[in-house]
Amino acid sequence: ENDISHVVEADKAHVWHHLSQHKPYETSDPRIIVEGKGMRVWDQNGREFLDAVSGGVWTVNVGYGRERIANAVRDQLIKLNYFAGSAGSIPGALFSEKLISKMPGMKRVYYTNSGSEANEKAFKMVRQLAHKKFGGKKYKVLYRDRDYHGTTIGALSAGGQDERNAQYGPFAPGFVRVPHCLEYRAFEQEGAPKENYGLWAADQIEKVILAEGPDTVGSICLEPVTAGGGVITPPDGYWERVQEICAKYGVLIHIDEVVCGVGRTGTWFGYQHYGIKPDMVTMAKGVASGYAAIACLVTTEDVFDPFKDNAEDPLNYFRDISTFGGCTAGPAAALENLAIIEEENLLENTTAMGARMMENLAELMDKHKVIGEVRGKGLFCGAELVADRQTRQPVAEKLAQAVVGECGAQGVIIGVTNRSVPGKNNTLCFSPALISTSDDIDQITGAVDKALTKVFG
Ligand code: PMP
Repeated sequence: ENDISHVVEADKAHVWHHLSQHKPYETSDPRIIVEGKGMRVWDQNGREFLDAVSGGVWTVNVGYGRERIANAVRDQLIKLNYFAGSAGSIPGALFSEKLISKMPGMKRVYYTNSGSEANEKAFKMVRQLAHKKFGGKKYKVLYRDRDYHGTTIGALSAGGQDERNAQYGPFAPGFVRVPHCLEYRAFEQEGAPKENYGLWAADQIEKVILAEGPDTVGSICLEPVTAGGGVITPPDGYWERVQEICAKYGVLIHIDEVVCGVGRTGTWFGYQHYGIKPDMVTMAKGVASGYAAIACLVTTEDVFDPFKDNAEDPLNYFRDISTFGGCTAGPAAALENLAIIEEENLLENTTAMGARMMENLAELMDKHKVIGEVRGKGLFCGAELVADRQTRQPVAEKLAQAVVGECGAQGVIIGVTNRSVPGKNNTLCFSPALISTSDDIDQITGAVDKALTKVFG
């Protein structure tokens, strides 16, 4: 049964893979990753890869093979694997305390299984708050072009990458799009100025609020650094202005930290770079670095307060449950994950290694005209590939994919993104684990250098 060719056949015969066209598997074997240690993984043929995407989607922040986390999960599962989340658990209580200590101003942790689900809970809370406080009116959720918040119908309704997603419509009402803030592509936005772009981009949000009616807008959901939409770091002045606008119209700020959260950008949370005071924060991937499924929604006490016991309306609490949300293995793993980041000074390492990555990428930009811009924060970096630096015409996705393929041939796994729309991705994406060394970073950018030469000359 452990015969790997049997595993490959079983996979080909029965697994419906995420985000896959499956066609290649008819002619060639799927890649099956069988083992990981530190920054490296091995496939079914024993080939070693340096993983520059932390498990594919910004997840394995503390690296592979952490026995300390595995042991904590094992001990917890033997002691108590599960009891529904309305009862407390030891790891659930201790992790919430530890997490809140990293998030000044925040107070309550609501456990879920996935990032999509955490975002759904936030949308639901906004709708219920509208009923509780605003006669049902202030229920709308604003979301931004290019941002991604998950794959469920509610989260897709708040999805800024809709070209292919349209086939999953009709979407839920009450979700309203605002423009993106990618300065490099500002020239594609009507009316965008050359100076003070960040303020202009934020002001577009105010325009939408006014058009919808401020008394109908409950929250805005934003990624601090947009991930799947193209590694978009916010332009200067953007967040300060967004915060002013939200305060003016009583719009709750919901920050989606599913990618940036728990160290990826060199601070515990991405929003902490920009002085944002969120009302709700959602997180998932890096919370336990993929050692157990855990996600959560964290709120301020002000958001929580109206949901507290109310003798006059005893059924008006947050009527929501998640069978596995807060299941004991998740917070047990998450506690160890946070402790590792602290004890190994991984936030500092992320800042230092992220700077090295950006320097290396800037050097590549001097050499390879195909790189139009490099963007990044901490160990979350991107290089947008363009056919022409003047027109900024994106390269065809198959060329960007060829670079990914060439890096893979050199034993380095990188990613590509931009709009997460098939055919439209032209931004190479680098997000190695927070334990990266200088040698790892240099190996990644060295592979990219060779791959760019091979593909573009
Ligand atoms: N928000 C962001 C910013 C994401 O990148 C993702 C996942 N790629 C999600 C939410 C959804 O998380 P999940 O896949 O755990 O549902």
